Amino acid sequence: MTMNEKNVVCIQSSDARELHRAGWIIIDSSTIIENGYLEIKNGSILGVHKGMPKERSIDHGPGVLMPPLVNTHLHLELSALKNSLTVDKGFAFWVKQLLEKREALGEEKLIKEAQKAVRDLVKSGNLYVGDISTLGMIKSIIEDSTLNGVCFHEFLGSDIQPSFTQKNDAVSFSLAGHAPHTTSPQLLSALKNRTDLDGLPFSIHVAESDDESKFIYDKKGGWADFLTSRGIDWASWNIGLKTPVSYIADMGLLDPLTIAVHLLNVNDKDLETIARSKAKVCVCPRSNKNLHGKLPDIEKMIKKGIKPSLGTDSLASCDSLNVFDEMAFVQKHYPGLDPATIFSMGTINGARTLGVERLTGTLSKGKRAQFLYQSLTATNQKDLLERITSNE
Ligand SMILES: [Zn+2]
Repeated sequence: MTMNEKNVVCIQSSDARELHRAGWIIIDSSTIIENGYLEIKNGSILGVHKGMPKERSIDHGPGVLMPPLVNTHLHLELSALKNSLTVDKGFAFWVKQLLEKREALGEEKLIKEAQKAVRDLVKSGNLYVGDISTLGMIKSIIEDSTLNGVCFHEFLGSDIQPSFTQKNDAVSFSLAGHAPHTTSPQLLSALKNRTDLDGLPFSIHVAESDDESKFIYDKKGGWADFLTSRGIDWASWNIGLKTPVSYIADMGLLDPLTIAVHLLNVNDKDLETIARSKAKVCVCPRSNKNLHGKLPDIEKMIKKGIKPSLGTDSLASCDSLNVFDEMAFVQKHYPGLDPATIFSMGTINGARTLGVERLTGTLSKGKRAQFLYQSLTATNQKDLLERITSNE
């Protein structure tokens, strides 16, 4: 067990039969027990009960037991770039700086800071992650930690390379395409076909920057010139008069195993397309605010039937990788969202996004005996969720 400054304790139970009691138990955002206990055995939740246990139990106190948090989109390999990039000179400038500074830092520093970021994630109760890595150095760092989730090896450009995928209970290895405007349609389709074969999630940044939308709609502009200057022949790409979402939908990339990350520049039709496809969605509002000065329309996504999960992107564009902080930001900037919805975004929606809902996301029977205890007091269920999601 470890405790961080926000009084969050992470409990990963052994095989023994144990009873864990607390003032509140959040099974999921709409099923909350006041004064109850979890019964666990063989590393799984056997049941959740009301009242005081009659047998010997571990009494955590008046606070709350709840599912661990899920961060569905982060780039651990950029952790060494924390506070070192200018965010107010446009996205293209930010990407240029990022590549130069990452190169200058060297592998050892990148690894050291990624390891530190992993320790912080575990300590703060963010036990499931979807990590995006282009350099391939994060896989072993996550495997050596108690984090679970999916390591996505990310590709861009047009070279189709052999790649490793594997579905596991603890950490799965999958693939990601960087974005519709940076990655050839042939490569995107090849990556998606490969992850589909293993039933693994496939991740892609979609509709994040104005450059991306402009290029895919107009087939010209700064981004078109940039690709041409890099020797990337995009003449055969089926773009023009399309949005990033309609472009990847036409390509057949949208289905329940795809994670569309960001969706910042989208119209109603795009959101309806996403909802119909049942593709998973990850939003990273703090990163979007810092890099692009705007926020995704989460309320509209939910109205269209989408269940977004939360990501933080990297420490190069966001202050922390902690989903407690992301939930607090959402609570502050989206007054139309209730705390229960925000809590689901940080837990069960994230678990579904990464395809680990069988193991985590709620504290219901059969899920992994892995949960958080947060020391706080609350007067009722609404107050409880409000306190958790505001990260007071
Ligand atoms: Zn990202």
